[in-house]
Amino acid sequence: MFRVRSNAEKWRYVIFISGMVVFLSVVLTWILLGDHLTAEMLRVSILGPLLIAPPVTMLAARRMLEIHRLNQQLEYLLAHDQMTNLLSRAHFMRRMDEMCETFRGTVLMLDIDLFKQVNDTYGHLVGDEVIRHVAKVIEEHVKQDGLAARYGGEEFVVCLPQHDLDEAMRRAEEIRKAVENQTVTIPSGKDLKCTISIGLGLADGAQPLTEVIRRADDALYLAKNEGRNRVGLPQHP
Ligand code: GH3
Ligand code: MG
Ligand code: MG
Repeated sequence: MFRVRSNAEKWRYVIFISGMVVFLSVVLTWILLGDHLTAEMLRVSILGPLLIAPPVTMLAARRMLEIHRLNQQLEYLLAHDQMTNLLSRAHFMRRMDEMCETFRGTVLMLDIDLFKQVNDTYGHLVGDEVIRHVAKVIEEHVKQDGLAARYGGEEFVVCLPQHDLDEAMRRAEEIRKAVENQTVTIPSGKDLKCTISIGLGLADGAQPLTEVIRRADDALYLAKNEGRNRVGLPQHP
């Protein structure tokens, strides 16, 4: 019934509930005492609740605000991948499912090339750093009009609404080149380079989302087979 989601709402809650308590106290005193109600009793019926209600409701309001903020944090944690801060796979799929009926655009599957070698050569912590770096490059390129998520491991998925294959191809090339041209400085001071391969899948409303992702995945593996560090087009767009 009452929601406390900000400091302003906290104060509104305290004032409203305290006001109600004082009002009810006066009404109750008047009902109980009727004609015997004196000015002294009226003062007591106002001052008593006025002293107690504000601090008690303030405590309750603070707790409600705290719970609201914890809920927000929980929602954020559930919707995002902890390592990269991109959307989580589950949240991405939910968002896509919600707009599935109407979604027109292109889905990109992106995968870091020969990533196992990075782990094997420099260790998993450096591998994590490379995943975070690639995630940041992807996010920077799609944040204004698309959704990006960590699909799992060193794989990412992006959806670009209202992008046909040509437009999506241009955007995918921009992301691929940005990753290729940037370096990640690792703790030893060395600058690491890495590349990604990308597969495209067209969503034209004719197939379910899982099919679009499967096509983008097929295109990704085509790009891998053709030598990596490239963008693959779907076989049957
Ligand atoms: P390809 O070019 O064919 O994609 O080769 P690849 O070596 O990138 O592919 P592969 O799937 O063989 O290796 C992916 C590796 O990613 C295997 C796994 O140990 C590693 N990996 C998965 N998740 C994480 C993670 O969160 N952190 C780190 N450091 N490594 C991860
Ligand atoms: Mg890989
Ligand atoms: Mg992979």
